[in-house]
Amino acid sequence: MPNQESKSRPALLKMLPSITEILTHSVVAAIHMKYPERYIHQCARRVVEDTRQDILQGVITDAEHFPRIEQLAARCVKLVQTGLENRLLRAINGTGVILHTGLGRAPLSNSARKALIEAAARYCLLAVDRDTGRRGDRHIHCDELLCELTGAESSLVVNNNSAAVMLALNTFGAGREAIVSRGELVEIGGSFRVPDVMKRSGTIMVEVGTTNKTHLRDYREAITDATSVLLKVHTSNYRIEGFHQEVGIRELSALARERNLIVVMDIGSGALVDIRRWGLPYEPTVPEAVADGADVVTFSGDKMLGGPQSGIIVGRRELIDRMKKNPLMRALRCDKLIIAALFGTLRLFLEPDDLPQNHPVYRMLSEPQEIVQRRASRLARRLKATAGEALKLRITGGTTEMGSGSLPARGIPSRVVIVTSNRFKPDELARRLRQAYPPVFTRVEENSVIIDARTVADEEISLIVEAFKQALGAGL
Ligand SMILES: *Cc1c(COP(=O)(O)O)cnc(C)c1O
Repeated sequence: MPNQESKSRPALLKMLPSITEILTHSVVAAIHMKYPERYIHQCARRVVEDTRQDILQGVITDAEHFPRIEQLAARCVKLVQTGLENRLLRAINGTGVILHTGLGRAPLSNSARKALIEAAARYCLLAVDRDTGRRGDRHIHCDELLCELTGAESSLVVNNNSAAVMLALNTFGAGREAIVSRGELVEIGGSFRVPDVMKRSGTIMVEVGTTNKTHLRDYREAITDATSVLLKVHTSNYRIEGFHQEVGIRELSALARERNLIVVMDIGSGALVDIRRWGLPYEPTVPEAVADGADVVTFSGDKMLGGPQSGIIVGRRELIDRMKKNPLMRALRCDKLIIAALFGTLRLFLEPDDLPQNHPVYRMLSEPQEIVQRRASRLARRLKATAGEALKLRITGGTTEMGSGSLPARGIPSRVVIVTSNRFKPDELARRLRQAYPPVFTRVEENSVIIDARTVADEEISLIVEAFKQALGAGL
């Protein structure tokens, strides 16, 4: 056997076309005007190289299965087209996770999109003083709204909440001690771990209390001359039930006043409004933390706010000014796109009653079950009409999650369409739906593909039906 193979291999390698042969083939020649020459060249080289590897690795073993030149040319055209098309394709989120980090967390509101496009397309007033024409401060744009919405004196926007925590601890705690409860040394999303962030910020972490209980006296007894910060972290992504006690911001800040320390609160998802108004569970809000006396509060712009990825810091003016002067600030600052989109998002929070109409995340959070049920029925009906016997469809109750570590263990009741195919296993059907255009992301559970109607928009129903057509292909 090996002998036979080694004999045919050089012969097969001789059959490889040259790059020029691919480039001059009519289907490739036809796209020369549309795409950059060097990119087409690179793709042609890749096609030849991939074919060579197929020969060397025994995927192509005889002349009969050697790809024809028109197949290789078509492969080259496909590589060029897919390689240069928009990579961040729109996707449909049927997963039931509202802030799906893999799918880009929050879909932005129209208000944010409008602000973003305006800033993106032209020059804008990012950081200029219109009066003097000199360089101004990029933080002023969101500052007025942030102060109004949180009750804080001043604010600052950086790349994400991790950067916000890092900046705060570095500014106030580098080379000094920061006290934190053992119940709050959390890990968020794998890469944000409170002890690691504290270490990197240059502060000396002093742990107090136990996993389930920390008392005010624990903090009090740990304070030394080297202490500068009392850190409080919202355990956003899990909940302790039962024998549990933590020290609230109000008590912590009273202690901090007494001993001249700074209370830094990492509140995580950063709700600006009390979401109980939509029948959702309580989530601590930024205005409460400020009113309770936190000196500095940090939170994400792309969790409960549903804005662009950013980290927001609000707090006492003197402290915010110190953070602005930290040399790290340059590495953490946001550009005009983020600031514009964040501003467009924040202004919606001035009218919380209108959030469900104006903000997709709040539409999903607050939509009544009857409306979700209606959407699920429409989707199931349309799929039935298209796929007939190829799909089995059923609607049941399900649970939508906020995602990104927000609102842990507190699902929102939803309605889901349960789909099984007579031809594809659920994992394969889900894969084919992801490969369709536009890609549809689902959950696979209990041997079915599940589409949560709460995280899908009405106008996406036709697109989901289209994706199913592609996924089932000849199976229809
Ligand atoms: C999510 C979260 C972070 C990290 O925020 P990013 O904006 O994702 O960097 C930090 N702390 C808490 C408490 C969080 O919930």
